[in-house]
Amino acid sequence: MTRLEPSISGAIQPTALRQTVAISPLILDLRLPAVAIGILTFVAACGAGSPTQPTAPTPTPSQTVSSVSVTGSTPAVGAISQFSATATLSDGTTQNVTGQAGWQSSNQSVATVSSGGVVSAIAPGETDITATFQSVSGKTHLTVPISLSPAATLPELIQLFIYRAEVGRVRVSSDISVAFSQEHAAHASLVWNYFLRLFARPVGVRTEMYYTMNLNLYAQVFRFCPSVVIPGARQLTACYDQGEGIYRWFIVPYTVPDFGTQLHELSHGFLYGTYPASEDFPWIKEGTGMYWESGSFDGASNLVVTTPHPYLTTGFHRWHDAGQLLPLTALVSLPRAQFYARDPTLVYSQAGMFIFYLMQNYPSVMTDLFGRLNSRSLTNNDQVLAFLTGQTGLSLQQLDAAYVAFSLRY
Ligand SMILES: [Zn+2]
Repeated sequence: MTRLEPSISGAIQPTALRQTVAISPLILDLRLPAVAIGILTFVAACGAGSPTQPTAPTPTPSQTVSSVSVTGSTPAVGAISQFSATATLSDGTTQNVTGQAGWQSSNQSVATVSSGGVVSAIAPGETDITATFQSVSGKTHLTVPISLSPAATLPELIQLFIYRAEVGRVRVSSDISVAFSQEHAAHASLVWNYFLRLFARPVGVRTEMYYTMNLNLYAQVFRFCPSVVIPGARQLTACYDQGEGIYRWFIVPYTVPDFGTQLHELSHGFLYGTYPASEDFPWIKEGTGMYWESGSFDGASNLVVTTPHPYLTTGFHRWHDAGQLLPLTALVSLPRAQFYARDPTLVYSQAGMFIFYLMQNYPSVMTDLFGRLNSRSLTNNDQVLAFLTGQTGLSLQQLDAAYVAFSLRY
């Protein structure tokens, strides 16, 4: 079972030139593409045929080739790497056909390949390396990584995210692929416009999101946008450039596409711009973040949330079954430091399910709530809680029982 582990991020305090948003203490799915790519590369490098092995004889005419596979480790720019071709014959046996196969690279500006399967990396980018043996072809996809000589400046660093796409107020850059950047820019623009309709104030005039699965590149970000790496957590950090009014996010996607992270994190920026006190008692900040992360856009660019994110239901049931759910009165009065010190599967699940309950059962109250945050007639946690109890006619204790019963149905 794949456990989707949503993002949890810390504060957004866009008041200094480069403020750091604390890293998401979210559990990363270990089968992330980023991790998988590294593992696959390693396996390919230490498995398959060694180039020094003698070449197997050509199969006898009675056997046909059923498939050809290509393996090899991706070289860095300026380096070479021996690739291998392995043919699987009709009798099920395999033979190393590296020396007899014909070799091709689909993008010779990224990498070339010799007649013996030696791949030379020319520049960062993507290409397919194909080996053909007795009219049967097999290929492997290569992503030649950017070279990692340390960037001296932030502008130099962000140049390394070579695939750029811009839609509206959002620019997405990645070192992953053109398609990744385009797809995520299109989605981020939907997110930006959605929250702009919901909230009165964005943080900054635009948002830039930088994606990489290259943990070495991600580590370079910290010199310009400090953060803390939490093993097993989804990795992201953000800095606000007050001079330019640009909010810059650096993200290691935990799934592809990684739309949930955009919904979650961009919501924090808009909520903070509109209701700065969301930092003081984070239940509403993280509850709404998880709620929106549960949704997806319909054809009319409206965000539709029909079921809670699996992270919420999984966590909620687990803590409920253990008899350790926090009373709602405690959850909504946890100050920032205490909230983020708790197990995220507890506080994020509870906050997310409480918001989900309110959105499903009291949509007009919530619309009114956002309107009052926008107009700044509600400016602190006590006022928000008084508004919710007043409008629903339920005490916090009554709301507690109602939202727990509601949540357990999911
Ligand atoms: Zn968050």
